[in-house]
Amino acid sequence: MDQESKKLLEELNNSHSLTVEQYQYLIEHMDSQLLELAAEYARAYQHQYYGNKVYTRGLVEFTNFCRNNCYYCGIRRDNIQCERYRLSKSDIIECADTGYKLGFRTTVLQGGEDFAYSDQDICEIVRSIKKLHPDMVVTLSIGERSKESYQAYFDAGASRYLLRHETANPELYAKLHPASMSWENRMNCLRDLREIGYQVGAGFMVESPGQTAKDLAMDLKFVEEFKPDMCGIGPYISHKDTPFAKEASGTLETTLLCLSLIRIIYPQVLLPATTALGTIHPKGREMGIQAGANVVMPNLSPGSVRKKYSLYDNKICTGEEAAECIVCLKNRVSSIGYEIVEDPGNRAGF
Ligand code: SF4
Repeated sequence: MDQESKKLLEELNNSHSLTVEQYQYLIEHMDSQLLELAAEYARAYQHQYYGNKVYTRGLVEFTNFCRNNCYYCGIRRDNIQCERYRLSKSDIIECADTGYKLGFRTTVLQGGEDFAYSDQDICEIVRSIKKLHPDMVVTLSIGERSKESYQAYFDAGASRYLLRHETANPELYAKLHPASMSWENRMNCLRDLREIGYQVGAGFMVESPGQTAKDLAMDLKFVEEFKPDMCGIGPYISHKDTPFAKEASGTLETTLLCLSLIRIIYPQVLLPATTALGTIHPKGREMGIQAGANVVMPNLSPGSVRKKYSLYDNKICTGEEAAECIVCLKNRVSSIGYEIVEDPGNRAGF
């Protein structure tokens, strides 16, 4: 590690802020010593705010229909190889209920932008889960909607919303998405969600096609300024049936560095060790936790549909049942000295 990197990391640790150019410098000068020191600082904050606790979110991937055509995504509208499915309202509620019985206190209802479920449907599902288990936090991750829709879901009882911003650079956004999609709208959605009162999750892909160190630095600056309650990041992984099929996937090292830097930038943030990280390395999620992450998101979807929610190739954990997933994760997490807890897992200080 060169002296400048060390100085910048110390400055970040003290002030939780750097310029875009300084973040870029750290990314461009990453080496094993920088990774280790960043992880050390990150773990100190992780322990300060969350101890050795790791929170779970039970993910219900309830539809793989999507009106959008993001170039990197395996369930994009034009992928005719994708076998589509929708879960019924009662199936979705049952998945959440199973999750509750397994100790999950947060469920994430995730899907493509599928307007076959009306706002009323979504609200009914949220209300039913809250009625069944008032102490279960319902998180939605169903893409860009109107502020009125977001408000209706919130009023029905959803209190968190995940909407990755994907990239803080509008020019890169335009290379990753068709012209029908708008970076400005996505950013407006994030602001709407925050105004309504949700705990908001943003996030980005690491080393997506065409992404530069400066783009990543802009993402870090965005995290510093917007302060999402949760920040989901994972390496870009290609999918064989997309226009980006031949693009190289993101690396473990850069993803781990970003995780550590995000923890240092915003010490209280909720930071998932994503399934994508576990896909590019067998111990990716454990390494993510050791780099500062404190959330894991196992799958509660029925086994029959898991393989069909294929955002990228070789996704792990598409075979196990929910109960097996949680046992496996508990073992993985305890093997590195952390503990999965039965807790809704709010952002510290929220
Ligand atoms: S990334 Fe999201 S919005 Fe884009 S095609 Fe995939 S599911 Fe749809």
